[in-house]
Amino acid sequence: MTRIFSGIKPSGHLTLGNYLGALRQWVAAEQEPHDALFCVVDLHALTVDHDPARVRRLSRQAATLFLASGLDPLKCTLFVQSHVDEHTRLSYLLECTATDGELRRMIQYKEKAARARAAGDGVRLSLLTYPVLMAADILAYDAAEVPVGEDQRQHVELARDLAVRFNLRYGHTFTVPQVVLPTVAARVMDLQDPAAKMGKSHENGAGIVYLLDEPAVITKKVMRAVTDSGDGGVVYDRAARPGVANLLDILSACTGAEPAALADRYSGYGALKRDVAEAVVEVLRPVQERHAELAADPGGVERVLRAGAERARGLARPVVDRAYRNIGL
Ligand code: ADP
Repeated sequence: MTRIFSGIKPSGHLTLGNYLGALRQWVAAEQEPHDALFCVVDLHALTVDHDPARVRRLSRQAATLFLASGLDPLKCTLFVQSHVDEHTRLSYLLECTATDGELRRMIQYKEKAARARAAGDGVRLSLLTYPVLMAADILAYDAAEVPVGEDQRQHVELARDLAVRFNLRYGHTFTVPQVVLPTVAARVMDLQDPAAKMGKSHENGAGIVYLLDEPAVITKKVMRAVTDSGDGGVVYDRAARPGVANLLDILSACTGAEPAALADRYSGYGALKRDVAEAVVEVLRPVQERHAELAADPGGVERVLRAGAERARGLARPVVDRAYRNIGL
């Protein structure tokens, strides 16, 4: 059975990008004969300025949203990264396998380090080493497939490189993982800035649809989405008309219709936005309803996470022990 691993970091409230680009794909993968592990990667939320109580709260909220999105703890393993020590144990061995040059080349590092410097903050060393910890997250489970959005492709490629290098130097130790990108909504863009991805850690909440936004708020954000200057016609052109293309991509992800075919149905932006808002509200409605039920019983979510961590530990321990042995410890 194919083992798959993926995670979301609790660095902010989960977004429509996380849902369409990750959670919904995970639920689909869970229907296949996969052994799937899905993780709230809380250690990754500490790479930038953070508030301890908020991270703890967001971590539980993310786990609750995993369940609310339809992940079934009887079919997959749901857990919190910091509950399983094997991730950090393995990360150090991989730090001894990676070079600082390959980490400094990571696009997300460059962007986030520049942002931290601009804000006058120091750049935490963990921001640089974060892709190594992510490689450990994946390699500790012998995961064969990693379903992620386009923005994470480079990090999964690093995990592959490190696995291959470690295997060559120290003998076969790790399964070399493959990235699996969604066929739709691999990259949902910010509604106010279609050049930037809709990311939960971004400052500008006006362009970000959060999974727990009220329907009226979602509608307002979509109706205020920036569209492109031009003749006002609705065409699907990601390069020349990124704002409209993003709305069409979102509508496509919600309805299953092709974005270019959807474009033909509209003559103006207003009607398109109204339909996008309605489609997003409808897609998120069942998730929000289930979230409200689950949030009323936090003990239930805790039990799922405890059982998940126990299973994850049992899978990771022999892999990480093997790595320690093979590297000479
Ligand atoms: P974020 O950028 O929201 O902090 P994470 O790094 O926690 O996201 O990523 C969690 C998962 O959600 C990854 O698989 C990532 O590719 C996916 N994802 C995040 N934002 C988007 C987006 N805007 N469009 C598509 N997928 C996304």
